[in-house]
Amino acid sequence: MISVRDAQAHILDRITSPAPPELLPLAAALGRVLADDVRSEMDVPPTANSAVDGYAVAAADIPAAGTRALEVVGELAAGAVFTGVLGPHQALRIMTGAPMPAGADSVYLQEFVERAGDRVIVGPMTAGANVRHRGEDVRAGAVVLSAGTVLRPQEIGVAASLGLAQLLVRQKPRVALLSTGDEVAEPGTVRKPGQIFDSNRFSLRGLVEAAGALAVDDGIVPDQFDELHARLLRAAEHADVVLTSGGVSVGDYDLVKSVLQQAGGIDFWQVAMQPGRPLAAGSIGRAHFFGLPGNPVASMLTFHLFVRPALWKLAGRRELFVQPFHATAAEPLSKKAGRREFKRGILSWAKDRWEVRTTGPQGSGILTSMTAANCFIVIEEERGDVEAGETVWVEPFQSL
Ligand code: AMP
Ligand code: MG
Repeated sequence: MISVRDAQAHILDRITSPAPPELLPLAAALGRVLADDVRSEMDVPPTANSAVDGYAVAAADIPAAGTRALEVVGELAAGAVFTGVLGPHQALRIMTGAPMPAGADSVYLQEFVERAGDRVIVGPMTAGANVRHRGEDVRAGAVVLSAGTVLRPQEIGVAASLGLAQLLVRQKPRVALLSTGDEVAEPGTVRKPGQIFDSNRFSLRGLVEAAGALAVDDGIVPDQFDELHARLLRAAEHADVVLTSGGVSVGDYDLVKSVLQQAGGIDFWQVAMQPGRPLAAGSIGRAHFFGLPGNPVASMLTFHLFVRPALWKLAGRRELFVQPFHATAAEPLSKKAGRREFKRGILSWAKDRWEVRTTGPQGSGILTSMTAANCFIVIEEERGDVEAGETVWVEPFQSL
């Protein structure tokens, strides 16, 4: 038996080099991982500018008390530049985003002044108000986004604000997906007696894509040694990761194990967890290999725990794990000490705290427990039964 944490550490240790980089236009870079630091060559904003629609003035012309009339010497729209210098007792009508004119350092909000012909009547105000300073967002030379960052909409916006049109990101890891088992039938075909429809290849495909990787469908493989051997080796030629489900247990037809024992470089673990005990991890040809258990919930959970962090490391990410948080158990949870248990949970906000309950029957073949759930409830190895009202860890599912 190996702990979840040790299995994760061994798997991540084997991934030593991330996917190669590629240059992508900003519009195609969402969800990708930066391969390099992004350093700004310019200040953002490039010039001091007005934060409001109003009147630019010099601090010296702001009265300490009472009012003062200033001469309005012109008007400046965003995108225009005032070529003159503002003199004493002068104001410039200015729009949001227009560069501050020379001689001015403060802007009156237009609602706070009174316009009278070519003059504007102003009162007391804080010197320097309503000005955005040059470089207040980004300083020239600064590292604005660092390698390993996942590009969310805001990172892409920041890159655009620096004038960049493309970014150097990691290629998506390619993941070959295979289901194993004579009993497994392709959805949309006629199921023979004794068969079940393949669900794993579809839920796993979704997980692969949601993790930012590229799924390659390599179909269903029957429980035949030579066929399995050939198909796994072929998959390893066109993918960075080969991912199978089923056949890693100790049944008579669990051939993934015997095929891979020949291929070498694979560890077979009994992980101290529930559900999803058996797991194979290592390499086949030049590809990484993961053999997940066949039970539909177990295969999704082991993906979440072991495959996704590996894909994220391959993709060059800095953060490899989703942060769990605390919630209150709304019902008692049965738990065997000595292993880490994962229940399918429904997390909800109950007045002043996060509460979590299970989805009902927790068999590892009950895939609808995953559709009813929005999180895993994680109960650590050393814990036994959990009483209602106790605190437990939850890991929200990745939203899509
Ligand atoms: P195995 O690990 O191959 O012994 O499979 C464990 C259980 O998971 C068995 O009940 C299988 O029928 C089931 N199973 C295996 N592969 C799949 C699949 N692709 N989709 C749905 N269930 C599966
Ligand atoms: Mg099987």
